Amino acid sequence: MPYVIPAPLATTLPVLGGDGFVPVRRVYCVGRNYAEHAREMGSDPDREPPFFFAKPADAIVAEGGDVPYPPATAALEHEIELVVVIAKAGCDIPVEEGLNHVFGYGVGLDMTRRDLQTAAKKTGRPWDMGKGFDHSAPCSAIQPADCIGHPGAGAIWLKVNGEIRQSSDLAKQIWNVQETISYLSGLVALAPGDLIFTGTPEGVAPVVRGDELDGHIDGVGSLRVIIR
Ligand code: MN
Repeated sequence: MPYVIPAPLATTLPVLGGDGFVPVRRVYCVGRNYAEHAREMGSDPDREPPFFFAKPADAIVAEGGDVPYPPATAALEHEIELVVVIAKAGCDIPVEEGLNHVFGYGVGLDMTRRDLQTAAKKTGRPWDMGKGFDHSAPCSAIQPADCIGHPGAGAIWLKVNGEIRQSSDLAKQIWNVQETISYLSGLVALAPGDLIFTGTPEGVAPVVRGDELDGHIDGVGSLRVIIR
């Protein structure tokens, strides 16, 4: 049976080294996963269970590059994050098995229309339009865990126009990757191609057209974005 309207193009991310592509199924994001960022957003960073929101798969901007400044905001902010790619399906995955479900890792930006998110928080409305807009999820090529292992520690930073804005270490995540996978798989069935943006450290701030964003995670890679 033919489609009656044009079928959407599949969203993919290249695997570093030119060895094929990851098909992107769903994009989940962890909120407040570094204590200093939770504090800067006005929250108590105590170890309450992680919470999640989602972006559409086609919000991914593969390998960064030019990203249009989105409509309906005066406060587009950067959030540099470690991205996890799920390889193996599962529900209720035990923490100690979490990393067995990972294909690899990338460097991502959870771009945020902070003014819309803040308004949604105040009124108890969904975050979708603050978080899940077009081009809101630039992500680097993916490094297979078979090549780089599972980075539990290492520098994560973001420069804007050459100046450091965010700088931390993956070891400062409140919930590590295996714990995050375990929690999330208790809420939804994870499947190959699901991505998890694992939260951002402190230092989030607005960007404007023309800004050059350079993100890096030790042992994982780099991501460059220019806001147009
Ligand atoms: Mn985030």
